[in-house]
Amino acid sequence: MEHLADRRNLTTGIRQAIALLKVPADNPALTAAQFDAFSKQVPLLYFILATNLISLSLTHQGAAPDYLVVYLPAVLTFLFALRSLIWLRGRNRQRTPAQAYRQLRATNILSFPIAVVCTAWSLSLLPYGNAYQNAHVAFFMAITVIGCIFCLMHLRSAALIVTVTVNLPFFVVMCLSGEPTFIATGVNVILVTMAMIMILISHYRDFRQLHESRNVLMLQQQALQEQNKAMQALSDENLRLANLDSLTLLANRRSFFQMLETAFSRASGSDGRLAVGVIDLDGFKPVNDLYGHSAGDKVLIEIGNRLSTIADERLSVYRLGGDEFGLLFQGDVAEGDTITLGEKVCELIAERINIGSGMVQVTGSVGFALYPDVGKTGQEIYELADYALYTAKRRHRAGTVIFNAVQANELNRQKVVEEALVSADLDEELSLVFQPITCVDRRICIGFEALARWDSPRIGRVSPVEFIPVAEHNGRITLMTRILLERALKTASLWPEDIYLSFNLSPHDLTSPENTLKIVAIVLKSGFDPRRINFEITETAVMHDFEQASASIQMLRELGAGISLDDFGTGYSSLNHVHKLPLTKIKIDGSFVRNIHTRKTSFNIVKSVLALCAEMELEAIVEGVETEEELRILENLGVRAVQGYYFGKPMSAEDTLKQLALQKTQALAS
Ligand code: C2E
Ligand code: CA
Ligand code: CA
Repeated sequence: MEHLADRRNLTTGIRQAIALLKVPADNPALTAAQFDAFSKQVPLLYFILATNLISLSLTHQGAAPDYLVVYLPAVLTFLFALRSLIWLRGRNRQRTPAQAYRQLRATNILSFPIAVVCTAWSLSLLPYGNAYQNAHVAFFMAITVIGCIFCLMHLRSAALIVTVTVNLPFFVVMCLSGEPTFIATGVNVILVTMAMIMILISHYRDFRQLHESRNVLMLQQQALQEQNKAMQALSDENLRLANLDSLTLLANRRSFFQMLETAFSRASGSDGRLAVGVIDLDGFKPVNDLYGHSAGDKVLIEIGNRLSTIADERLSVYRLGGDEFGLLFQGDVAEGDTITLGEKVCELIAERINIGSGMVQVTGSVGFALYPDVGKTGQEIYELADYALYTAKRRHRAGTVIFNAVQANELNRQKVVEEALVSADLDEELSLVFQPITCVDRRICIGFEALARWDSPRIGRVSPVEFIPVAEHNGRITLMTRILLERALKTASLWPEDIYLSFNLSPHDLTSPENTLKIVAIVLKSGFDPRRINFEITETAVMHDFEQASASIQMLRELGAGISLDDFGTGYSSLNHVHKLPLTKIKIDGSFVRNIHTRKTSFNIVKSVLALCAEMELEAIVEGVETEEELRILENLGVRAVQGYYFGKPMSAEDTLKQLALQKTQALAS
């Protein structure tokens, strides 16, 4: 058994020793690196061999036969020079690891015959020389083998083959000579070469490790690069998402303003033109309110899809938020192109949309501003386009408006009003007029609507149509409402008990509980019977924040006051709000009264709104009645209360008292 184990150990030992004499084939990258380092040293190796060969032949000239010291060295030197040249020429050629392996293996194999020939040759010179010459042979063999080990540092197997092939016969011959100096030389050379082989083995190991750690480093670098690439891709994707509207997949508001700046710089830097468009949907909110948000989403997605069909390299489409979209039209844009584009956009929007549970229709308004006709910055062009949109929407029908001189004047005027209002002494400059509300049957005044007036010492009398929106914008409206309500209640307290006060509230008055509470407090403080007050609210108040507005309205109702929905018919979501809010009255807008005797649609609208009011037990007041004819038609339709120039223009507080006194005497007389 023991014998068998010994044999097995012996065979593995032999196998390991043979492996040391072979070029390792397990690591192609290592082989390539080995080849690279080795190829630089091969010419030096042949140089050492040739010079040593020549030097030894020279010291043996005449002593040994010519074939040994002339012809053979000449042939060998020639072959070494040739091999050197081949290596030198092939130095820069790219090799695959397989080619490198083959060449290393060839060198490995070749090292054996070269070592044999050189050893045999030098030993064959020994019988011809004297002691000095023999010492040169010993020196030749020792120095050559050391030189070769050095040069073959990167081809461990060849170094070992050479060492064994040269040293073994050398040592034997040295010992057989019986000469102590030679024996000492033999032992010395063996010991030195053994040490060198150990250095070589450890060097080879270091080389291998260095190579491996460099590989690991390279792999780490590659991994890092890949990671960087992935991170870049991720941040690109984030950037894309940050600029994309997730619902419609159009570019978003942020991207719009970025592109606007780029397009503006381009246009302003090259005398180019640029049109900025802002689109707003009309009738979108009712879809959202009546059919739910998912239906609203479907509408927005569909419109986004339709709008993206007209986008090209000159025209880009964005979703700015809510039901608002943006357009950037670059290049040589003329006003005519913009109008055509606006019409196309309105056409696309107005096509009916399938929301699953049915078909709905919304319309669109578009406002445009054209650079360089107007605007000095990208932001300003956008604001002007937005103002043009506001104008389009004020006209209450879908269409395109391009910012022009008329709006420029309006906008200027708005700025003038704003400036004057900021520094206005509201207590001093504001006043109220009162317009009678008449009972049609009895032709008597049943109430007054309080209407604000502003006489500015700087810009004269300003219409509430102008200053109310500005005051709403800059927040002064809350103070205005308080001043006006206190005054209105003061006047109304002078009226007989059967006359009520109608007072306009702005959206601001309903958007916070504090503002509404303040109104309640003013009413309570005045001592005026809240049941004689009617607050007029508009749809915009409710559209902003429906929940808060309806809570505020509820608060006023609990106080005992009535609530009218003003300007009914001019908004979009009217019907829906009528259902949901605790209203008491509806004021049908004067625009439906104009030419009611000639316009069938106006007539029909008033008729159906009256029917709706009757069904919901709401009072109806028709505003803006100016003529006998209008009144007659309304009377036939069953209208009970009206307001308008026909019965009375807005009048001062004093005049209300005069009119009421007159009414009283007339009543007493009849
Ligand atoms: P509104 O509440 O619809 O008021 C009716 C407007 O129509 C008044 O204009 C009135 O003078 C005018 N009007 C009355 N009868 C006729 C008519 O037969 N024909 C014509 N063409 N117009 C008639 P005004 O006083 O210029 O007020 C305009 C708007 O300003 C008001 O519209 C209201 O929305 C707002 N407003 C007025 N006073 C106040 C206020 O004290 N607070 C708030 N928040 N808004 C006010
Ligand atoms: Ca009103
Ligand atoms: Ca009105």
